[in-house]
Amino acid sequence: DPDRAERAKRALELDLEYVFHSWLAQDGRAPFTADGAQGSWLWDGAGTPYLDFSGQLVFTNIGFSEPRVVKAIADQAARLATIAPQHANDARSEAARLIVERAPGDWFRKVFFTNGGADAIENAVRMARVHTGRRKVLSRYRSYHGNTTTAINLTGDPRRWPNDYGAEGVVHTFGPFLYRSAFHATTEEEECARALEHLEQVIALEGPATIAAIVLESIPGTAGIMVPPAGYLRGVREICDRHGILWIADEVMSGFGRAGRWFAAELANEAPTGVPGEWKPAPGPQAVPDLITFAKGVNSGYVPLGGVLVSEHVGATFGSRAFPGGLTYSGHPLACAAAVANIGVLTDDSLIENADRLGREVLGPGLHALAATSSIIGEVRGAGAFWAVELVRDKQTREPLVAGGAPVAALTKACMSRGLIPFVNGSRTHVVPALNITDEEARYGLALLGEAIAEVESSL
Ligand code: PLP
Repeated sequence: DPDRAERAKRALELDLEYVFHSWLAQDGRAPFTADGAQGSWLWDGAGTPYLDFSGQLVFTNIGFSEPRVVKAIADQAARLATIAPQHANDARSEAARLIVERAPGDWFRKVFFTNGGADAIENAVRMARVHTGRRKVLSRYRSYHGNTTTAINLTGDPRRWPNDYGAEGVVHTFGPFLYRSAFHATTEEEECARALEHLEQVIALEGPATIAAIVLESIPGTAGIMVPPAGYLRGVREICDRHGILWIADEVMSGFGRAGRWFAAELANEAPTGVPGEWKPAPGPQAVPDLITFAKGVNSGYVPLGGVLVSEHVGATFGSRAFPGGLTYSGHPLACAAAVANIGVLTDDSLIENADRLGREVLGPGLHALAATSSIIGEVRGAGAFWAVELVRDKQTREPLVAGGAPVAALTKACMSRGLIPFVNGSRTHVVPALNITDEEARYGLALLGEAIAEVESSL
């Protein structure tokens, strides 16, 4: 492509001059300029290839430029590119059917479509408040739920701090996280029991009859990919049932195959086998959320889309009573056509099963092998194509590699210089590739990541 270098150069110049970016100080930025992408690879203006271990912001579940999805978007654009949300259209109807059919349990009936994850959270919380007639909402520290008022206040990681103007009724609790236990626990069983006891106490002290919902990422994502211990989500379900509180599962990042299941809430009814990344169905009553929020992997981010899966009992509240909310682009046909095709790819190519296998056979063992030879990898954890590597100064004290939650910039640099796009957040790097990355690509990426971590280690 003779125009590539010039196009990328101009893209960068105009970006620096005219684009106002998320989360960062605007001065001194030096963004990577993508000029094209295919599968798990991106390239820059020089045509240099980069392997994507980030899923971008953990959303390209089927990788880039999947022709079946690109064609579906083009066909939809030619026939009915846009339509107001009150009118039925085949792309949205079909997307809703496919999503409902993949939901856990047997009580999900409908989908409310949004433009992304944060507005899915806003609307799920609104549904819960109207349904219960209560105002408070619980969430956990070490979580991320989006960047609108309710969603950022529910968020339990430091991105909330500068935005914390006090959304009404939000209460944070500690969730289970054995590696940095808030409960002085030494086993997953202890962590689980104590986290549930803590939740029960917070509910008792806040007033059970004032609490509409508890919002939990089924596996907290950006905050650290902490797979909950066996029994925790069932415990949450039981506590919610006892107090008439709704369980809202935030599956914006963990849904659509990321954790080797259509929704990571399925892990509520499974238990780990002891093999890293391997879980098996657990006997007992099935715990299912009342509402599920999703976005990202629903259409791999080819066109913005999110939504709320609505259970029969919550939906019934709005049978004869108006739902007090809506969005101009709710169920946009291009986004929904992309979702239909994306879910088709996930299904036809068995990518949910492949993600689970990747976790058990390639990513889990590969990362554990890296940890065994590194003095700065404190812990490796995850499931499917959803893994965190915790970098520490000292394996004994577990002191994070970088204080204050700043990203390990040296690691990003060491990865990029080797042609690997990492997901670095604070003292962690997350390994979150496309679910259809090949085993060879995944092993190659792990080797590059290992070299980059060793470079950071040797510079300490
Ligand atoms: N919830 C979770 C678990 C997320 O990971 C994110 C985004 O990273 C959001 C909500 C917010 O989604 P969006 O950025 O599409 O608004």
